[in-house]
Amino acid sequence: MSEFDVDLFVIGGGSGGVRAARIAAGYGARVMIAEEYRMGGTCVIRGCVPKKLMVYASHFHQDIEDAAGFGWTIPSASFDWATLIANKDKEIARLEAAYTSNAEKSGVKIVKTRAIFEDAHTLRLATGDSVKAKYVLIATGGAPNHGPAIPGIEHVISSNEVFHLESLPRRILIQGGGYIALEFACIFAGLGSDVTLVYRGDNILRGFDEDVRTHVRSEMEKEGITILTGCTVEKIDKHGQEFTSHLSNGSSVASDQVMFAIGRHPNVANLGLEKAGVAINPNNGGIAVDHFSRTSVDNIYAVGDVTHRTNLTPVAIREGHAFADTVFGKRTVRVDHADIPTAVFSQPEVGTVGLTETQARAQFSHVDIYKASFRPMKATMSGRDTRVLMKLVVDGVSDRVLGCHIVGEGAAEIVQVVGIAVKMKATKADFDATMALHPTAAEELVTMRTPSARHVKAAAE
Ligand SMILES: Cc1cc2nc3c(=O)[nH]c(=O)nc-3n(C[C@H](O)[C@H](O)[C@H](O)COP(=O)(O)OP(=O)(O)OC[C@H]3O[C@@H](n4cnc5c(N)ncnc54)[C@H](O)[C@@H]3O)c2cc1C
Repeated sequence: MSEFDVDLFVIGGGSGGVRAARIAAGYGARVMIAEEYRMGGTCVIRGCVPKKLMVYASHFHQDIEDAAGFGWTIPSASFDWATLIANKDKEIARLEAAYTSNAEKSGVKIVKTRAIFEDAHTLRLATGDSVKAKYVLIATGGAPNHGPAIPGIEHVISSNEVFHLESLPRRILIQGGGYIALEFACIFAGLGSDVTLVYRGDNILRGFDEDVRTHVRSEMEKEGITILTGCTVEKIDKHGQEFTSHLSNGSSVASDQVMFAIGRHPNVANLGLEKAGVAINPNNGGIAVDHFSRTSVDNIYAVGDVTHRTNLTPVAIREGHAFADTVFGKRTVRVDHADIPTAVFSQPEVGTVGLTETQARAQFSHVDIYKASFRPMKATMSGRDTRVLMKLVVDGVSDRVLGCHIVGEGAAEIVQVVGIAVKMKATKADFDATMALHPTAAEELVTMRTPSARHVKAAAE
């Protein structure tokens, strides 16, 4: 008889945990996974999936408007929030069931309860049971931050609650300048709400290419979203069903909902990490791990948002898979975190991979920028005041494409594929040698012949 009840105990049934559990079970490990809320985790239950469904819903607004220029008359289109939420909930429930049955089919035992450490090999379940595990994987994800406890903070909703509002707010104030804040600003604007976005920095989308930041802001403003930068919400008053948010610049905004999307923190609290001896990374507050996702304790690993490396679903999945391969598959796999394609499902959409112009200029002596901003073909007939941005950042010495940044319809789909070329270290000459596919917006990526800027670092820099 083994001294352990299971070979692997996974805490958290989200993207990273479920993948690791299934792959480890496939290698013959006895696996148990604990999930305290709903199988599927943030991505499936209250993240990527429901959000994208709502992005689709909100996009019809523009599609219906755009149709007029092409000869369509659509009499008084109306939108019903309750139908959207009910249909979205049905799809999420279907996915949750699929996650559960796929894990079970792989031989994983699911326990629907919270689990915390008693010691490095013992997990205490909220049911009172304890389980002895040879290896433990921490995949507890992250949660929204509300920032400092300002007066009225209890009235604020986060991305957790936004998926379950009883009605579409007529006016909403969203604080935050990252992708989640922008996506919900565009979702609500598309569905007909009056949206004010408040962000403390000088421009939205910190960390993205500067041209992308400027372009997206101007496109969102053209769609009627009010963007207030350089200020924060300091106090929220409630009067009946209405809120007044008082801003640090002295102004105030009235709304029917106030949402904060100002960042997320890794779920490390009250897990008994100290009893197990698991160290926290002092730089980011996540669980400290090495390149193989191993924590400071030999038999304990951590993947996904709880490590606060790159908080994206495909990354959590890749890390979970690599962990299972390494520990149970006798195949050492290290995840490469470079050149991860990413998107912002704003309207218009952002797709980006590789280095921004600022990053490239800090790292390379010669940087060539190829940039095009143009009116998309559809807008010529729809009359919509919108522009597409395409930008390539190229190493002027090796000719390698270091980064690709797109704002416009289909940007995320385009960048998923451009990501392959960037990962393969394709050169600008490879892009040029690729025949254009006409008529598309993406053909611009292979037809931009002359750099719009050439940056050469001075010797002393
Ligand atoms: C609004 C929103 C939109 C997003 N959109 C995108 C997107 O478009 N693309 C993208 O790639 N990523 C997106 N993300 C990020 C993505 O959801 C996360 O990166 C991903 O879910 C991380 O997976 P994970 O396995 O690390 O954690 P999670 O998926 O968060 O799973 C952790 C699970 O652990 C459970 N848990 C926690 N503690 C315990 C415990 N002690 N015992 C038992 N169970 C526990 C939780 O209930 C949760 O189910 C979005 C996130 C949000 C919030």
